[in-house]
Amino acid sequence: MTIYNFYAGPAMLPVEVMAKAKEEFTNYKGTQMSIMEIFHRGVHFTSLLAKAEKDLVKLLEIPENYSVIFFPAGATLQFSAIPLNLLQGNETADYAITGVWSKKAYDEAKRFFKVNVISDCQDNNYTKVKPLDDSMISENAKYAYITTNNTIYGTRYKSIPRITKAPLIADMTSELLSRKINVKDYGLIFAGAQKNIGPSGVTIVIIRKDLLEKDKNPVPVLLDYRIMAESKSLYNTPPTYPIYMAGLVFEWLLQRGGIEEMEKINEEKASLLYDFIDASKLYHAPVDKESRSIMNVVFWLRNKDLEKKFTEESTIAGLIGLEGYRTVGGFRASIYNAMPIQGVINLIGFMQEFEKKYL
Ligand code: PMP
Repeated sequence: MTIYNFYAGPAMLPVEVMAKAKEEFTNYKGTQMSIMEIFHRGVHFTSLLAKAEKDLVKLLEIPENYSVIFFPAGATLQFSAIPLNLLQGNETADYAITGVWSKKAYDEAKRFFKVNVISDCQDNNYTKVKPLDDSMISENAKYAYITTNNTIYGTRYKSIPRITKAPLIADMTSELLSRKINVKDYGLIFAGAQKNIGPSGVTIVIIRKDLLEKDKNPVPVLLDYRIMAESKSLYNTPPTYPIYMAGLVFEWLLQRGGIEEMEKINEEKASLLYDFIDASKLYHAPVDKESRSIMNVVFWLRNKDLEKKFTEESTIAGLIGLEGYRTVGGFRASIYNAMPIQGVINLIGFMQEFEKKYL
């Protein structure tokens, strides 16, 4: 039986990438060593890092006035790095709260600076993202912060707010590489790897170069965007294996026609699932149609008593990791780039059978 992994992250990686990593695991390019065992300043790793960056630039069409940094650790570290690098003294910034992760980013910035909430979706239980525009941006804001896809609630900005009054900073952890974006619309984009990019342990930061020049108070060295950009992600020993895996994922994406192709498939997978849920009597998708994520499909069972059975039986059917986030409940199917359409077809097949059996 084929197992399909719907975890929100760490999440499924493309089978072809896993096969390549397995093939090279103990003998990277004839070295008789794993890439994990190889010096990070030697030719093997530095060329791998340069290739990974080049492929990412190609995939996202990153303009020349942006730097790409492979940061150690998870996306949460950026919640601190962003205000510490971009604010000082009494300077302020604006945050749009669309879910758990943007709230966490705001709470972290608030520990150091006086920052503003310019929009909060709590009043709709985070089932809809509210539109944002320049008129909402504070006069003196040094940046405006958004989370483009809300992993936990399964919402996203279908079209990204056009903000020109302040640099737009975007947490794209759960959707980078899944849909087309215009990098030039942002001051900074970041994404933890463990959804669409690779294993956990590395976070990608794409930052407009003028933001590196901003005066600031001293920042811990590993959080300093300028230092990290100047050292080309090699200030210290980087997470070499996650970067290697991310590089394989970028190659995989390029071989498949890049992000435009991926986006088409992702839209198709998500539509199949949402259409099925909307037509069913047992399942319910709580998210407003215009705000529905194509990466994280959240759904409930109208009969809550069946939840335990649904978890047990879906697991037996080889459909793993469908439980909703611990504070939200219900169910969530994370269908990132690596999830083949067949995984979604199998999930719908199972849900159909389950509904027939119990309703
Ligand atoms: N932002 C978003 C949108 C996320 O989904 C997550 C984790 N799932 C994070 C930030 C935090 O990532 P990490 O655990 O890598 O710090």
